[in-house]
Amino acid sequence: MARVNENFLKLKAGYLFPEIGRRLCFFQAENPGKKVISLGIGDVTEPLPPAITEAMKRAVDDLSAEATFHGYGPERGYDFLIEAVIENDFNRRGVKLEPDEVFISDGAKCDTGNIQELFGLDNVVAVTDPVYPVYIDTNIMAGRAGKAGKNGRYDKIIYLPWKAENGFVPELPKKPVDIIYLCFPNNPTGAVANKGQLKRWVDYALTNSSVILFDAAYEAFITDPDIPHSIYEIAGANEVAIEFRSFSKSAGFTGVRCAYTVVPKQLKAYTKDDKGVEINPLWQRRHSTKFNGASYISQAGAVAVYSPEGREQTRKVIDIYMSNARLIRESLSKLGYKVYGGVNAPYIWVKTPEGINSWEFFDLLLAKANVVGTPGSGFGPAGEGYFRLSAFARPADVKEAMERMAHGI
Ligand SMILES: *Cc1c(COP(=O)(O)O)cnc(C)c1O
Repeated sequence: MARVNENFLKLKAGYLFPEIGRRLCFFQAENPGKKVISLGIGDVTEPLPPAITEAMKRAVDDLSAEATFHGYGPERGYDFLIEAVIENDFNRRGVKLEPDEVFISDGAKCDTGNIQELFGLDNVVAVTDPVYPVYIDTNIMAGRAGKAGKNGRYDKIIYLPWKAENGFVPELPKKPVDIIYLCFPNNPTGAVANKGQLKRWVDYALTNSSVILFDAAYEAFITDPDIPHSIYEIAGANEVAIEFRSFSKSAGFTGVRCAYTVVPKQLKAYTKDDKGVEINPLWQRRHSTKFNGASYISQAGAVAVYSPEGREQTRKVIDIYMSNARLIRESLSKLGYKVYGGVNAPYIWVKTPEGINSWEFFDLLLAKANVVGTPGSGFGPAGEGYFRLSAFARPADVKEAMERMAHGI
């Protein structure tokens, strides 16, 4: 008899986005012809810049000629992309990496979801609350999360609540934890961590022999020159941190698919008898067993992001999103909302008005302004009383959404 992996039965139903869709459908059926503006999604809206699409077209031509055809590529990624990543994303910030510390993939979602396979099931996992749900759900599937309580939390996971008072940077856990997921700039809160705050986490991990899984998918949106782009800008991080990057948000690759993960060779985890084991060769082994490389076409597109034209064109697109973010921030502040984020991240985290919870605010905003956002409670219990607005939208839509909100909701 085939038995099911019962860990999957412990997952909570994917509730947030289906519920948003359901309420939106209902509204549209009741209000035909009303134009609803979505500031609810975490997907890019601008088309790919020409430097990237031209490079991908050339890659397609390569595939159609005998002399330049590419079949299976190296599982870890093509050297041309790995070298460009190291030079542009790390060496320029004073971080040195070896080519075999970078693993090209088809997405940071897969990588942040798969990385937990390298760690024993008895590790204590810490996540922030609110959080990007992939980190928790993949640990539930693996059997590290324990049972779900009434409060919406799993009893073996350590939750680190974000508080507005500490700038939405979580405090260190009171009990020792083995694996810590951090995401800066953050989805959903738009918060960033400065050097001192990241150093505290790195020092904690060094002291406790923990591993930090650092999701830097929004690094390209940092505008403040003092905010670190990579956790490896902090001394000692190469012994305790794995970093995830993606071309999805920085270069519009959500549909193309290309990302990468850095696993430094100094990083170790420990056997039951406390023997240190290098994680890099294990990820190499896993990657080449379960993955056959990102497509030649997407890697050719990704390397074009680093060309002079690619840089300039992707920068312009990011500037569009960040001017959306500024408009949302400034408009809502003027209207008296308390707003966070949106300066170094494409998300604005809004405190809902007194006495109105996240879903009530969703309904009000939809009914009165015909604008869709994302209830903060969907990202974890500590997100209750907050609301996420995304800067990934067409500028004219953002402008109109802000005008509608100014008329009162
Ligand atoms: C969008 C996003 C990613 C990127 O995922 P891809 O699979 O590379 O598209 C990673 N982490 C967070 C927190 C995100 O919001």
